[in-house]
Amino acid sequence: MNAEIIEKLKAAVGEKYVLTEDEATKPFLVDWTKRFVGKAVVVRPANTEEVSRVVRIANETRTPVVPQAGGTTLVGGSIPDDSGNAILLSLSRLNKIEDIDTVNDTVTVEAGVILEDLHKAVEEKGRFFPLSFGAKGSAEIGGNLATNAGGTAVLRYGNMRDLCLGLEVVLPDGRIWTALRGLRKDNTGYDLKQLFIGSEGTLGVITRAVLKLYPQPIGNQTALVGVESPDDAVKLLNECRTAAGPYLTGFELMQSKCLVRVHEQLPDIGLPGPVDDCPWWVLAEVSCSPDSGPSLEEILGKAFEDGIVKNAYLAQSLKEFEAFWKIRESIPEADARVGNNLHNDISLKIALIPEFLDVTVRRLKDAYPWLDPSLYGHLGDGNLHFNIGSIPSNLAFENEEGIRKITYEETVKRNGSISAEHGIGQLKREHFLQLKDPLELELMVKISHALDPNGIMNPGKLLPDRK
Ligand SMILES: Cc1cc2nc3c(=O)[nH]c(=O)nc-3n(C[C@H](O)[C@H](O)[C@H](O)COP(=O)(O)OP(=O)(O)OC[C@H]3O[C@@H](n4cnc5c(N)ncnc54)[C@H](O)[C@@H]3O)c2cc1C
Repeated sequence: MNAEIIEKLKAAVGEKYVLTEDEATKPFLVDWTKRFVGKAVVVRPANTEEVSRVVRIANETRTPVVPQAGGTTLVGGSIPDDSGNAILLSLSRLNKIEDIDTVNDTVTVEAGVILEDLHKAVEEKGRFFPLSFGAKGSAEIGGNLATNAGGTAVLRYGNMRDLCLGLEVVLPDGRIWTALRGLRKDNTGYDLKQLFIGSEGTLGVITRAVLKLYPQPIGNQTALVGVESPDDAVKLLNECRTAAGPYLTGFELMQSKCLVRVHEQLPDIGLPGPVDDCPWWVLAEVSCSPDSGPSLEEILGKAFEDGIVKNAYLAQSLKEFEAFWKIRESIPEADARVGNNLHNDISLKIALIPEFLDVTVRRLKDAYPWLDPSLYGHLGDGNLHFNIGSIPSNLAFENEEGIRKITYEETVKRNGSISAEHGIGQLKREHFLQLKDPLELELMVKISHALDPNGIMNPGKLLPDRK
């Protein structure tokens, strides 16, 4: 990047917060999977005003801007290319929790607040922010919004689209759009915030947000439940839904081998007992309240009688509740330790999942007999992490194109989505451009051109290259 631009950036945010040396920039320029590595000047503004100054400079000089929050995207979304021409805009210094309003049940936060820090802060005020997932200790609110993050409680509370009541965004020309009124009802025209949520940094930089809060659940019942097949897991889901209604907050499906791998790779995380007697396990959570109906134990008792459930461990304490979730949330980390996993993040109508698994795994194994899938996900949301490895060899990566082709063909054939949570980023861009409805894609491109005529926002991600 030319020296003049670097000087302007230093004047905008302070010399200390413009990083140009490899040693200083390196940690920002590699993603969680270590697959994507870029090159850029790293700029670390402290507030919205400074973000606006940086983006204005970028727009005037036609310099690409890559927003980055916690850097936990699994699709290379917050890593620039290796040209060295871009500004990596780190939002992590915007980390203030500005206002916890327990009457409106909302919180106003800056984009760089770490998700887990938000959990702790609102808990102190007797409130609950429901978005949660394995990377909560690093992922930040701006990244969660820009990816429309989901996680383990979508079943009851929805994803970031459902949890956001207002945004502040620095537009690609540097202007600041502030819409932080925190209203639950507002029918004055288009809901513009929804354009920015899930836009993966291609339309502007999110700097602040108003998010919904909930009362702390009075209690939780959680169980690890062994079943014979995904089909039985779907039956159990149906029974839990019927019995617990809105109090069913989590319903995760995991292959037995995922649990075993967590314990092998992260020995501090114990399993509640043997798990190899069932090929699949469900982590089910029901939140209690005075009118929440039958307990999880009663629901599972009936499912035992119906032959749907083969084994179950019911958490007997808060410690066990946390330990069960720790197992589930550590699967990606355990997989990463053995390496060589191709991440997929698909969604389907729930009833189609057992048949999809059956057909797709069979097709893949016919083509690649050595493959070793790691299958788990948010069954209650119809979302599967259909991860394909070839441990310990690198064969899965060498055959990535063919594996993805079969996986996505089977997904699209059933009207599913190739990205339920993680977004498109760099990893899935080519497939997304081929598979997305052409009219939807045309509209997305038009919106991007309207807001960002110079094409500075996160180029090479999600949308086609500008001509
Ligand atoms: C172990 C593990 C488990 C995970 N589990 C889940 C899960 O259950 N559910 C789920 O949804 N995801 C999951 N993820 C994926 C990831 O954590 C989420 O996508 C998360 O929301 C990304 O947040 P981040 O702060 O790390 O964003 P980053 O990775 O920094 O950025 C993500 C995208 O948002 C853009 N962006 C970042 N900040 C801004 C901003 N302020 N304004 C505009 N654009 C911005 C970036 O350019 C990039 O395109 C998981 C990841 C890991 C590593």
